[in-house]
Amino acid sequence: MNAKETGEFPRGMVWLVGAGPGDPDLLTRKAERLVRTATVVFHDALVGPGVLALIPAGVRRVHVGKRSGRHSRDQASIDRMIVEAALAGERVVRLKGGDPSIFGRSTEELEACRAAGVPVAICPGVTAASAAAAGLGRSLTLRGLARKLVFVTAHARAGEPLDLDWGALADPGATLAIYMGKAAAGELSARLREAGLAPDTPVALVENASLPDERHLVTRLDLLPLAAKAGLGSGPALVLVGAAVGAAAAPRARQAAPARV
Ligand code: SAH
Repeated sequence: MNAKETGEFPRGMVWLVGAGPGDPDLLTRKAERLVRTATVVFHDALVGPGVLALIPAGVRRVHVGKRSGRHSRDQASIDRMIVEAALAGERVVRLKGGDPSIFGRSTEELEACRAAGVPVAICPGVTAASAAAAGLGRSLTLRGLARKLVFVTAHARAGEPLDLDWGALADPGATLAIYMGKAAAGELSARLREAGLAPDTPVALVENASLPDERHLVTRLDLLPLAAKAGLGSGPALVLVGAAVGAAAAPRARQAAPARV
């Protein structure tokens, strides 16, 4: 028994827990405690294997995988499963990649729990944008140049154009953190340029942020479609756009001056 002697996690409760971007060291201590106290864990495809390894043996785990483009359980059945488990007296952890409050369909799950009278709470996590910036060694904001940070999803129904406010997004004073944007790279690049962003606006692509197979590349807005096609594998990737992303990395430690003779 843990979770502050289970006071914060009685039977019949649901915790929506942020699993972070993949590296188990980026899990909060609270998330780890909740995972260790759960009697059942429902998790996404995006939860890293190192995080799943923290689930004690014998605790039931249910993969309710969601990856864009792949078939997955629909949201309503996930809502139903977590509510039913809680009503059956389980301590339910719903483990979600990154932060549960960012493009994580948490509202549906919160509402389903509340409608059924099931106590529910959120444990925040490190979102992919933060991990991607850390991997790049760059900041998401930049004093004087990027004073605004926009979290946006570029997920669209198959065959439909993205329904985004391009005029508002094409702000040279903002950093865009674009989730689920890899497949839409061509459209993103074209629409943002049409709406006024310079073709040489810096763009970074970060795949598998925080995991051992993390890959990143820094390019420019007009070359984004090419980079997304040629430079990435099949892992989840974040697209970052804006001046902050292109800011020169910290200067390397100076090389020792040549010895004088
Ligand atoms: N709640 C999550 C986001 C879910 S949407 C969060 O806060 O991070 C899923 C999208 O998140 C993916 O398509 C990808 O764009 C991004 N993502 C999640 N994990 C990632 C990772 N480790 N590296 C890069 N992008 C990631």
